[in-house]
Amino acid sequence: MKILNTLTKKKEEFKPINEGKVGIYVCGPTVYDFIHIGNARPMIVFDTLRRYLEYRGYEVNYVSNFTDVDDKIIKRANEEGVESKVISERYIAECKKDMESLNVRPATTHPKATEEIPDMIEMVKTLIEKGHAYEKNGTVYFRTRSFESYGKLSHKNIDDLESGHRADNHQLKVSGEDEKEDGLDFVLWKPKKEGEPSWESPWGDGRPGWHLECSVMSKKYIGDVIDIHAGGEDLIFPHHENEIAQSEAANDKEFARYWMHNGFLKINNEKMSKSLGNFFTVREIGEKYDLQVIRFFMLSAHYRSPLNFSEELVASSKNGLERIVTAATKLKEAAGKNTEAELTAEEKELISKLPEFEEKFDNAMDDDLNTADAISALFEFVKFANTNVKEESTGSFAKEIYDLLAKLSEVLGIIIEKKEEILDSEIEALIEERKNARKEKNFARADEIRNLLLEQGIVLEDTREGVKWKRV
Ligand code: AMP
Ligand code: ZN
Repeated sequence: MKILNTLTKKKEEFKPINEGKVGIYVCGPTVYDFIHIGNARPMIVFDTLRRYLEYRGYEVNYVSNFTDVDDKIIKRANEEGVESKVISERYIAECKKDMESLNVRPATTHPKATEEIPDMIEMVKTLIEKGHAYEKNGTVYFRTRSFESYGKLSHKNIDDLESGHRADNHQLKVSGEDEKEDGLDFVLWKPKKEGEPSWESPWGDGRPGWHLECSVMSKKYIGDVIDIHAGGEDLIFPHHENEIAQSEAANDKEFARYWMHNGFLKINNEKMSKSLGNFFTVREIGEKYDLQVIRFFMLSAHYRSPLNFSEELVASSKNGLERIVTAATKLKEAAGKNTEAELTAEEKELISKLPEFEEKFDNAMDDDLNTADAISALFEFVKFANTNVKEESTGSFAKEIYDLLAKLSEVLGIIIEKKEEILDSEIEALIEERKNARKEKNFARADEIRNLLLEQGIVLEDTREGVKWKRV
């Protein structure tokens, strides 16, 4: 497989450190709210990378963190008058539900920053001992200029960065960061403020800086050297650049061999983000569309390209996915018929062509995870199936074709089994049960019923005339 490595800007043949094994680290979300569909893009893309590597026979150790200590979490906790942990645990649980709906498999490990503090303190100590970090009034800074190759990932020149910082000097002073030896230095450990979560450390009570978390969690769960480090392209600088500086300065080893960065999900050609307010949560979108359609939509573009979210494009993904699901349903049906009959000579001939389709799919995925071309290969195969599987086909023939379609769809994480249709009468009965549950203030059951229906593509609307429902 070839990977376009952000570090070298070249497509390189992927070679794991240990034969047959791959360690992947993907920066996960900061859990202060529901995730939006922009956040879902790296989840879907790199889950597909993992699936593909597993299909190619690798054993994958996939690690993705939850940043559960952060200003935004603290702000939200203060607004609600609860502990930070209440907020982060709530949104970790919600994020996991969204991942499941998107058919994103749980990581091998999902470390949480707050549970790895002792190791973070250890890394800061090491960096201070080695002269790469220093403490000023309870804050520990990384001495950026002590790390010679700073800027290698983002291809930035350290002196250009310095002048950029000088231009921001006024702002730096305002935020109290003028104690730094150099404008480029960044925080490894910050002192406690009133009302914030904190941990004891040799530099006083405080909490870790965001960049440090990933350096430490990847070291603990993968090792000093990671095969593939991934995330959205906004993380290249400064987050990933700083991760490299910390890890390589502390461990004296190359930090990550391949860097993969996904492009932005956009809306009206602007990055979808919380701060711009132009976002949809996965939950909202799940009320409108089957989230399998969203997964399919995300994979319809190359992961590095920007992708514009629009109703038309999603509608076209919906049609595309339906074409695959319909073909799979027919194949499954055909596989259950004529099961005693032996493959005909013509069928044997056709089956000998299957490896060509698989090869086309693999070649696309081998080319820097080109899921767009892999989907085209899948469509070609669907066409082949629709043309050649007929009423009189043998069950074994249909089954062979179905099995390959299922195998390739599984690599993309696309579910091809049609959901059992829920009957109108069953829906009405559940709505009645929900009404009674709400009367009895059993809101947990009421919510459960709403979600149960949602999973079947039924959306409820509470109106003045009572509950209305529709299939989406
Ligand atoms: P955050 O919680 O903002 O740190 O984001 C979590 C992950 O989502 C990071 O890998 C980001 O790069 C990624 N991300 C955020 N917004 C977008 C977007 N609009 N398109 C693609 N990826 C995004
Ligand atoms: Zn990170």
